[in-house]
Amino acid sequence: MTDDKIRALGLMSGGLDSTLAANLMQNLGIEVLGLHFSTGFCVADRHRLLGNSNNRDKPYRNDALHAGAQLEVPVEIIDIKDRYLPEVVLHPKHGYGSGMNPCIDCRIFMLQRAKEILQERGYDFVFTGEVLGQRPMSQRRPPMQAIEIEAGLEGLLLRPLSAQVLPATIPEERGWVDRSKLFGIVGRGRHKQMQLADEFGLTDYPQPAGGCCFLPDENYARKLRDLLTHNGPDVDPDDMMLLKVGRHFRLGDEVKVIVGRHESENDFLERFRDGRGSVWLDAFSSPLTLIEGSPSAADLEFACRITARYSAGRTEAEVPVRWRLDGQEGQLVVRPLSEDRQLDEIRI
Ligand code: SF4
Repeated sequence: MTDDKIRALGLMSGGLDSTLAANLMQNLGIEVLGLHFSTGFCVADRHRLLGNSNNRDKPYRNDALHAGAQLEVPVEIIDIKDRYLPEVVLHPKHGYGSGMNPCIDCRIFMLQRAKEILQERGYDFVFTGEVLGQRPMSQRRPPMQAIEIEAGLEGLLLRPLSAQVLPATIPEERGWVDRSKLFGIVGRGRHKQMQLADEFGLTDYPQPAGGCCFLPDENYARKLRDLLTHNGPDVDPDDMMLLKVGRHFRLGDEVKVIVGRHESENDFLERFRDGRGSVWLDAFSSPLTLIEGSPSAADLEFACRITARYSAGRTEAEVPVRWRLDGQEGQLVVRPLSEDRQLDEIRI
């Protein structure tokens, strides 16, 4: 590293856009440090915890670290979970998108943290892989400008993929980066990005529209809202973690069950049995079901019938179902639930 080299921090999700932006900066002679923020809502965390349920032999990979390795760019993982839920997800100043995604506040929060690192370590500017018009909430002109200002990075936030259609930034004005070498990509299409990936020799990247965060997902958002409604804002991190797996059914104000959908989810749920009730079948292959709260005898029986419904014994007239609750174990012989309508009414 030479003393006069320009140094930039790049927000790297591991997706194609941020990888291209980092690659482009490198090509222009900028020394890059990638920052990857771990929010507690990253889809990558679910893959890390569950493995690949379609192919259990395929090892988990963190896309941001993988992108960094491909480009030979160091990537730091910044854990913001503790502050992210109470400060950003629960109280977004700029509101939510389609789910519970506070995208504008989220960008501001991450960029404020990036600015702190910029100041502490003497970096020159920050860049992201954002593309004007690609996302309805945070990637329109007015919010992009508001994000830059509220993050305290006015003039120091470069979006190289759309730079030519945005006002010139300090790095461009001072000649740290050549504006003519940047791009003017606009909109949701990915054609240009895929073309650039070819040009840059990037072949192994996640599907561009895959999504890296649970919060915009309506199914996930519904479960999170339900949890906050019934448990209040001081939610347990384990409860948050459990939102990412299984089928969730609410049996009462304080009773909820989570039914594993496949072997990886059952293995995952197994780790959360302590302090929760659980239900399973020995006689047939079955999901593991966790019970949260204090179920009544009727709730316990219903949890057994739900579990039987998703087991290999679902067509039997009656099946024996095992349960464990408050240090006690027992067995109930129940009729597997047959009507999906009943489940639809209580599905979260
Ligand atoms: S999708 Fe999730 S990680 Fe991305 S900006 Fe929105 S809230 Fe933040």
